[in-house]
Amino acid sequence: MTQRILIEGGDAFAFAADEDTILRAALRAGLGFPHECSVGGCGACRFDLVEGEVETLWEDAPGLSERERRRGKRLACQTRALGDCTVRVRLSEEYRPAVPTARRKAVLTSRHWVTPEMAELVLTTDGDARFLPGQYALLHAPGIIGARAYSMSNLANSEGDWRFIIRRVPGGQGSNILTEGVAVGAEIMVDGPYGHAYLREDVDREIVCIAGGSGVGPMLSIAKGALGQGSGPVVHFFEGARTHPDLCGGKVLASLIPQATSRLRYTPVLSAATHEFWSGARGFVHELITPSLPLPLDRYEYYFAGPPPMIEAVQTLLAVQNQVPHSQVHFDRFV
Ligand SMILES: Cc1cc2nc3c(=O)[nH]c(=O)nc-3n(C[C@H](O)[C@H](O)[C@H](O)COP(=O)(O)OP(=O)(O)OC[C@H]3O[C@@H](n4cnc5c(N)ncnc54)[C@H](O)[C@@H]3O)c2cc1C
Repeated sequence: MTQRILIEGGDAFAFAADEDTILRAALRAGLGFPHECSVGGCGACRFDLVEGEVETLWEDAPGLSERERRRGKRLACQTRALGDCTVRVRLSEEYRPAVPTARRKAVLTSRHWVTPEMAELVLTTDGDARFLPGQYALLHAPGIIGARAYSMSNLANSEGDWRFIIRRVPGGQGSNILTEGVAVGAEIMVDGPYGHAYLREDVDREIVCIAGGSGVGPMLSIAKGALGQGSGPVVHFFEGARTHPDLCGGKVLASLIPQATSRLRYTPVLSAATHEFWSGARGFVHELITPSLPLPLDRYEYYFAGPPPMIEAVQTLLAVQNQVPHSQVHFDRFV
């Protein structure tokens, strides 16, 4: 008999024992279960267990405070049901998956460094790679405890290619194994797509992409998606990095078709430029937005990705200082 998870007062959904977290099973069923990072960091998927038995995958996940743990809160991305369960959570339309999520076996088919600290990986699955520009997937690789979230830098395709730009984090387990540890040819599980910061193709406002460090991956996907349409809005692409060798977005964008690049305005910004020859912008990437764009700032559609301090600075600039409506601002936090 199929085992089910019931949402108190509402829907029930099936799950695959030993495989599904509660979050993955709910999203696969097309339900709007709240979530953001899907890897235990943000706490957006917390819920109450009303009835049934579950196991916790990562006891110390930072997405829950000690107080919340004591009060019995759990994270759906770190919980597996051991049998029929009832959970309490408020579903919301905004979290309903835009593309159904699935787990697929992939092979690491290529990898090369695009900057001294970031590698581009291509994982290839059988069948289509289905996702929207700007979304992310969870990668399960040999030798890594738990999954890691990485954003696709390419577009959906029928070859089954999922491209990622991954920065090796000093002391980081997953990023070091993926960029150097696992060999080309290794099998890696791709679980996805996830994420709400995807390209809204029905909006014709000019687009602003703001990438900090490894946030360049999803921003390239958004820009390619927007520029790939025959006609469409201008894309203002800001890429922030420490030094000149750390930039990689410009080269990728320059290889797009000329008709597309005539709609592209690319601004690289360096925060630790030591090179005398650098005549471009210096500072933190968010500081360049106001001086570079024709005002007011509430006339654009914004996408951004990068380290948490950059995300906070951009949110303050847009929401607090310039009253840009929430509906025009799209980001997934890299926790
Ligand atoms: C939505 C999203 C998109 C992202 N996209 C990118 C991208 O495109 N490129 C990029 O370079 N980085 C991206 N990141 C960051 C990336 O997921 C990793 O956090 C980063 O690479 C550091 O991982 P690490 O394993 O090297 O570091 P570690 O410090 O070893 O681990 C960091 C993260 O791994 C998870 N983790 C750690 N221990 C466990 C455990 N025991 N069980 C389960 N999970 C555990 C947690 O989420 C933790 O925050 C993204 C993050 C998010 C949330």
